[in-house]
Amino acid sequence: MARAVRLTGKVKRVRKSRVHIRLLREKCTGCRKCVQICPSGSWTVEKGEVRWKGMSRCLECGACFHVCPSNAIIWRYPEGGEGVVYRF
Ligand code: SF4
Ligand code: SF4
Repeated sequence: MARAVRLTGKVKRVRKSRVHIRLLREKCTGCRKCVQICPSGSWTVEKGEVRWKGMSRCLECGACFHVCPSNAIIWRYPEGGEGVVYRF
């Protein structure tokens, strides 16, 4: 028989619109290091242009941000509540 569990503590809502990665097209050289290092396959190349697929698969590890040699990736720490949140 299932037991009811009461959860306590504050619940923080996460705004889906607050993305933590933004690609600056004007700085991107298309080196594809972000594509190669991303463990979740969140980067793709379409018609020769590197593109971030969005938050749905992202593990929020920050590897793409660190590997980018052109500072083309703007990083904001995720607000939390969407899985693992790393600090670096
Ligand atoms: S933060 Fe990690 S999982 Fe998310 S896009 Fe960058 S490399 Fe991929
Ligand atoms: S690592 Fe940076 S410069 Fe290279 S493709 Fe990705 S965003 Fe562009």
